[in-house]
Amino acid sequence: MKLTFLGSGSAFTLDPDNYQSNLILTGDRGRNLLLDCGSDIRFALRDVGLSHLDITDIYISHLHADHVGGLEFIGFSTQFDPRCSKPQLYLPESLVNDLWENTLSGGMRSIQGRTATLDTYFNPCPVPDRGTFVWEGKSFQLVPTVHIEDDREAVESYGLFFELDGTKIFFTTDTQFCPDRLRTFYEKADIIFHDCETTPYKSTVHSHYDELLSLPASIRRKMWLYHYQTGPLPDARQDGFLGFVRRGQQFQFAERTSPVAAVGCFAPIQNSS
Ligand SMILES: [Zn+2]
Ligand SMILES: [Zn+2]
Repeated sequence: MKLTFLGSGSAFTLDPDNYQSNLILTGDRGRNLLLDCGSDIRFALRDVGLSHLDITDIYISHLHADHVGGLEFIGFSTQFDPRCSKPQLYLPESLVNDLWENTLSGGMRSIQGRTATLDTYFNPCPVPDRGTFVWEGKSFQLVPTVHIEDDREAVESYGLFFELDGTKIFFTTDTQFCPDRLRTFYEKADIIFHDCETTPYKSTVHSHYDELLSLPASIRRKMWLYHYQTGPLPDARQDGFLGFVRRGQQFQFAERTSPVAAVGCFAPIQNSS
């Protein structure tokens, strides 16, 4: 299996060489799992030679537009293209109602001659918020992170912990810096893809580079950084991280032979920059 970053930028990246942080996991039997589907998605897919035709499965981590803003495009495109089947849509069960009622239905509820629902466009597969789903024989564990705390509640995003060919991967999705909450996953992962804000002004709803610098070296050396802003980047390798992920960067995972050899298995096989 191969993991490709269709983009590695922040929600509002203006970098002409990047898109929002959405990934695609290419299976061995013709299925592709899109990890988040933001408003940049049709261009992000086009630039790696893909289209809506290639999207068989989607996972949604939370409801910001850089993670769900492309669902209208995928939903309509697959619905009215006879070559397509309905994509499977995996998502935390607590988001299902909000996704349709408060995000998608305004544009997608009415189609010619009938009223549509989420099921019209997708096969929803709600996952318990701390549960797992299985895709292509691999188990994906949802890891709730604290993304925003408004005046009433904590709004979570749902990261993923999964294993590919013997490599344990923690993909944070959007998260504040909350090492105590995520420590278990940091420690048991072989590789971590971590949300990383790089602006001088901290939004506080993402993990900032300066905060990630405070993590132990043993964690930093397993960590690739993504979801960063337009502009100059610090020297992440110098600071003990694996680096900033570039758009188009791909990862393939080989069986690990020893813990020491692990880092060598994660070299990108292609870098667009
Ligand atoms: Zn985001
Ligand atoms: Zn977000």
